[in-house]
Amino acid sequence: MNAWPSISITPFKDLDLPQLKIKDSNNDIIAIDSKATFRMYVCGITPYDATHLGHAATYIAFDLINRYQILAGLDVHFVENITDVDDPLLVRATRDNVSWQDLANQQIELFKSDMSALRVIPPKDFIKVTESLPIIENFIKKVDSNGFLYSLEGDYYFAVSEFLSTLPMTIEEAIKIFAERGGDPERTGKKHKLDPLVWSANVGNDPGWNSSYGYGRPGWHIECTAIACEYLDDGISDPIITIQGGGSDLIFPHHFMSAQIIKAAYGRSFSELFVHAAMISLQGEKMSKSKGNLVFVSKLLEQGVDPMVIRWALLKGHYQNDRNWSEDLLNQAQIEVNQVRQALAQSEVFESHQLIQDIVVDLSNNLDTPSALKRLIDWSIKSKSSGTVNQSGAVSRFIDSTLGLAL
Ligand code: ZN
Repeated sequence: MNAWPSISITPFKDLDLPQLKIKDSNNDIIAIDSKATFRMYVCGITPYDATHLGHAATYIAFDLINRYQILAGLDVHFVENITDVDDPLLVRATRDNVSWQDLANQQIELFKSDMSALRVIPPKDFIKVTESLPIIENFIKKVDSNGFLYSLEGDYYFAVSEFLSTLPMTIEEAIKIFAERGGDPERTGKKHKLDPLVWSANVGNDPGWNSSYGYGRPGWHIECTAIACEYLDDGISDPIITIQGGGSDLIFPHHFMSAQIIKAAYGRSFSELFVHAAMISLQGEKMSKSKGNLVFVSKLLEQGVDPMVIRWALLKGHYQNDRNWSEDLLNQAQIEVNQVRQALAQSEVFESHQLIQDIVVDLSNNLDTPSALKRLIDWSIKSKSSGTVNQSGAVSRFIDSTLGLAL
């Protein structure tokens, strides 16, 4: 599927970009190899509630990584999927009395226009699950041929029990979260409560496809593993990709299960780093569909809010800290964006070489955007009182390329 229009970024010849260091959710901060191909897979949306600020914060965080690695001259391959057939989408379509395809297509278009407005660079491959059925079926066959698939009343499960030594929590906690996030630990006949569904037989009027495993549809975890391997696996790398990314609510079970399914299929590790963006709250409560407190990018844009102000507001907090969204945050972001714009409009500004080098170091240090934005504000204040050099164009191009802020 076509992604949104591409965004070109300006390379900087004399810029010294340190190796990018990113906090892995299971380990500490890891410096990413700057010579190898950089392969990143970010889990995309299920298209029924696009694009709320939690989505925006996540995709902007991985956009910063993408931008940094492109500017550092790495061979970057970034893939993102769209889970365009899934239970919540079907439930929403039934509730709203629309076809699930129409709902998905409408929400995908909205997501694409929101990403474009927020200046998120599109993935090289933007892949819908519904266009990947043969890929997913072939992947299930690999798991099957290695003996990790079993059937239960027409459904098929991945047998995870051999792969639980790296479970990031106790079995009891895992079972509880698994049940909360779409798993079925209590189903009679399963070999292990944590075994995830990889192919479900068709029920009622649900969408389905013919496959070697009957008429039905794939499970969420195996969709992402199959798509990631199809587009990113060179057949020898171990781990297969550099970063698997998404929101922190994907740590378990989604990313854990994806990694174990890949071990079962290939005997190799999935990803060098598992990186997660934290959640956005509204008035102290995590933004979620169940609480009905989602704030949508498209609604803010309709109200006339500048997308660069939304991006600035989200970058004011660190991507791995849970953050609160508020009117005050948005108003403060608008004030700060105006401040920087005024400085950039001056013919003479404060010397910027140090600013640029410092922001690069901030970004290399696990995307320290709060520090980067503070430096920009300080530079704007100094430029107002003692601008002496004609460098505003360079700063403007630099912050657009690195931070995605076209001011
Ligand atoms: Zn995924």
